[in-house]
Amino acid sequence: MKEAYLAKDTLLPLVGLLMARYRVAAPVAVGDYHQFQILTQPEQLDLTYRNTRLSPKDLFHPQSEKLFRFSTAADDPDANILKEVERDQGPRLVFGIRPCDARALRLVDVNFDTADCQDPWWVERRRNTLLVGLGCTAPCATCFCSAVGSGPFDPGGLDLVLTELADGYAVAAASERGEALLADLDLLSALDQDRAAAAAEVQKTAAGTVARPFDPTPLGDKAMTELFQSPFWEEVAFSCINCGTCTFLCPTCWCFDIQDEVQKDAGVRLRNWDSCMFPLFTLHGSGHNPRQQKPQRVRQRFMHKFKYYIDKYGDGPACVGCGRCVQFCPVNIDIRQVVALMTARCVCPA
Ligand code: SF4
Ligand code: SF4
Repeated sequence: MKEAYLAKDTLLPLVGLLMARYRVAAPVAVGDYHQFQILTQPEQLDLTYRNTRLSPKDLFHPQSEKLFRFSTAADDPDANILKEVERDQGPRLVFGIRPCDARALRLVDVNFDTADCQDPWWVERRRNTLLVGLGCTAPCATCFCSAVGSGPFDPGGLDLVLTELADGYAVAAASERGEALLADLDLLSALDQDRAAAAAEVQKTAAGTVARPFDPTPLGDKAMTELFQSPFWEEVAFSCINCGTCTFLCPTCWCFDIQDEVQKDAGVRLRNWDSCMFPLFTLHGSGHNPRQQKPQRVRQRFMHKFKYYIDKYGDGPACVGCGRCVQFCPVNIDIRQVVALMTARCVCPA
């Protein structure tokens, strides 16, 4: 792995250099929280954050996106013909993304970029975007990335990984694209042995502070029907108000709805985030709703992340342990406790 060193007083000049080549998205302070925004000046960057309230998935799968335009005018020869909305798909770079959020993008790839079906907008954004990660030196009490096969400095999914030191950052390439970028940034210097050792120590300490509240491994072997029919879903769902906060904040939730909006004789086809926690989510055209009751919807969220995804892709749970749903659920439903419940109530086949 190629490594380098970035002095703290060179951080903003480096970001300025990157902004000359890419549209750079990075964490920006907004009131009492941080969110990823496309920078207009390097000084907007604020790396003094632990985690952003919203994940950066919006940069790849916007909360609301115009896909097509169409006309409904009777005298328009192109009436009702969908025309793709132009969008800027030029080179981008996300600076300061947490390893869990970068890993989440890889988990979501299985939905938007498969051998059978590629979502062109997702695929193009993924290909055109470099990810410069900032490892977590002080994980939150609600973080559990280590329990789901990752860690606070997991390089998987990243191009570069930054480790914060007292006077700067150790920078490590985590992909071929990252190596090429590293070789092309002359504001960096060589990482000496002392700083390399300090970075390794920081990473080790951080890894030791992340809780492992459960082990999801046995869930892959559990009988689907046993989990599906377990009575505890009623208990779990009791206090849920189906607000959808957990799914909207989650970096691995990808569900969306397509809607047409028409004003006078001009229409747009929109793609909007949707949530399995909403009663209308699975309402069929016939009027039948297979998830009419709240426990069915709550079960879907947890089963999708910790059973269906594991069974379908054999790739661990569809959760990166960012802890956002734990932090912001208004009624304190805690996915760590639910998974512990799922694991405890299951009986492994002999
Ligand atoms: S955030 Fe909490 S209350 Fe809201 S839908 Fe999710 S589990 Fe239910
Ligand atoms: S389920 Fe919760 S902890 Fe897991 S990735 Fe989604 S928001 Fe983060």
